[in-house]
Amino acid sequence: MNQSTPEQPADIVARLRATFRTGRTKPVEWRTTQLRRLREMLTEHADDLATALHADLGKSADESQRTEIGFTVREIDHTLDHLADWLRPEPAPVPERLGADTTAWTQYDPLGVVLVIAPWNYPLQLLLTPVVGALAAGNAVVVKPSELAPATSAALARLIPEYLDTDAVAVVEGAIPETTALLAERFDHIFYTGNGAVGRVVMRAAAEHLTPVTLELGGKSPAFVDRDADLDVVADRLARGKFLNAGQTCVAPDYVLTDPATATALEAALVKAVDGLFGADPKASGAYSRIINERHFDRLTGLLDSGRVVLGGDNDRAVKYIAPTVLADVDPESTVMRDEIFGPILPVVTVPGLDEAIGFINDRDKPLALYVFSESDETRSRIADETSSGAVGHGLPLAHLTVSDLPFGGVGESGMGNYHGRYSIETFSHRKAVLQKPLS
Ligand code: NAD
Repeated sequence: MNQSTPEQPADIVARLRATFRTGRTKPVEWRTTQLRRLREMLTEHADDLATALHADLGKSADESQRTEIGFTVREIDHTLDHLADWLRPEPAPVPERLGADTTAWTQYDPLGVVLVIAPWNYPLQLLLTPVVGALAAGNAVVVKPSELAPATSAALARLIPEYLDTDAVAVVEGAIPETTALLAERFDHIFYTGNGAVGRVVMRAAAEHLTPVTLELGGKSPAFVDRDADLDVVADRLARGKFLNAGQTCVAPDYVLTDPATATALEAALVKAVDGLFGADPKASGAYSRIINERHFDRLTGLLDSGRVVLGGDNDRAVKYIAPTVLADVDPESTVMRDEIFGPILPVVTVPGLDEAIGFINDRDKPLALYVFSESDETRSRIADETSSGAVGHGLPLAHLTVSDLPFGGVGESGMGNYHGRYSIETFSHRKAVLQKPLS
C-alpha cells in the first residue's frame, strides 16, 4: 500500500470483504488468536494507552485501568472462557409430522464486514469492547475512533495494525467527512455509540444498504431516592457514579428525583461525599478528570444557573475544569433538565412522592439507565415494572455494565440492540436456522 495516499473506504471494505470470503475469520482459532493479540496489545502498551487517555480527558492511571484498559481485558477473558460454549449449535425440537429422522438447529454465522464507530468519553473501551464481540463472532471489522479524543485515536491507529490481522481489521481515523465516506459503503452491521442526532444519520445511511444497526445512545438517566434510604450511602454511591470521568459517562446518574425533605438532607450528604472522594479542592485531585473540549466546557458552564448551587460551580476554562457541582431547587423545565448533561453537574428535582416520580420518568424519553435507592421491595419493583429504561440499578449506579452476563444497551431514545459477553455474539452474528432430513 502506498503510504502517501491513504486507502479509500471502498478499497478498505473490498479488501476486508475479500478476506472474509476466503473463510479466514471463521475458525474459532483465528478468533481466539485475535482476542489474545488484542489482550497483549492492552497489557504491553497499558502505559502508552493510559498516557493517551490522560492527554485526552485527564483520566488518572487508576481510572483508565479500571474503566478502559482493564475493563476491555476482562471482556476478552470472559469471551475466551466461554466462546466455544456460546458458539455451540442449539438443537430445536421438530414437529412429529416431519418424521422422526428430521433434525433442526440454529447456528451462529458471522455477518461479514462490520463497522464500529466510537465516541470520545471512554474512547478505548467503547471502541474495543464491540471489536471483541465482532472478532469473537468471526467478522472482519472497520473501526472508527473518535476524533475528539485524538491522542487515544492515534495510539489505537498505531497499535491495532501491529497486533491484529491487518487483512481483517482496519482503523480509519477522522471526523465527519471520513465517517460520512465510510457510511456510504455497504457493511453487514454498523455498531454506533454516541449521541442520538448522529445515531439518526447512521441509521439513514444504513437503510440504503439494508444494513442492521446497533445504536448505543445516551439520555437523562434518573436516580430516585426514597425517604427511607441511608443518605450517606446513597450520596457516596451517587457521587462516585456521577463524578467518575467528570460526569462524562453515558450511564451516569443525570439527575436526582426525591421528595423535598429528603432533598435537603441528601444535598448535605452529597457535599460530604464529594469531599471524601476528591478532597476540599477537586481541581488539585489527580483522581478527577477534565472536560473533553472547550465546546463542551461552554455548554456545561451555561447550565450552572439552572438552580441554587449547593456545591461546586467553580470552573477554569484554561484547563477545562468544572468542579463536581450539585444544583438544588431545580425547575423541571430549566435548561439543565432539557438535554443530557454529560458533565459534572447533578440537579436535584423534587416530586411529592413515588407516583409523581414514576409519572416524571414516563413523561420523558426512555433512559439508558434508571437508579433506585430504596429499602422498600414494593417501591423498587413498582419503579422497575412501571417504567421503561435500558437497565435498572437498585442501590448502585454504573455497576450493571461491568457484569458481562448482562446485556448492555438502551431502549427508545437511548438506543437499540445491546452487547457485552454472549450478547455481543448475538449482535454480530446471524442466528441461522438449519433443518436436515436424510435422503434415504
Ligand atoms: P462523538 O462526538 O465522538 O461522536 C461519536 C462518533 O460519531 C465519532 O466517531 C464521530 O466521528 C462520529 N460522528 C460525529 N458526527 C457525525 C456525523 N455527522 N456523521 C457521521 N459520524 C459522525 O461522541 P458524542 O456523540 O458526543 O458522544 C456522547 C454521547 O454518546 C452521549 O449522548 C452519551 O450518552 C452517548 N454515549 C452512549 C454510550 C452507550 O454505551 N450507550 C456510551 C458512551 C456515550
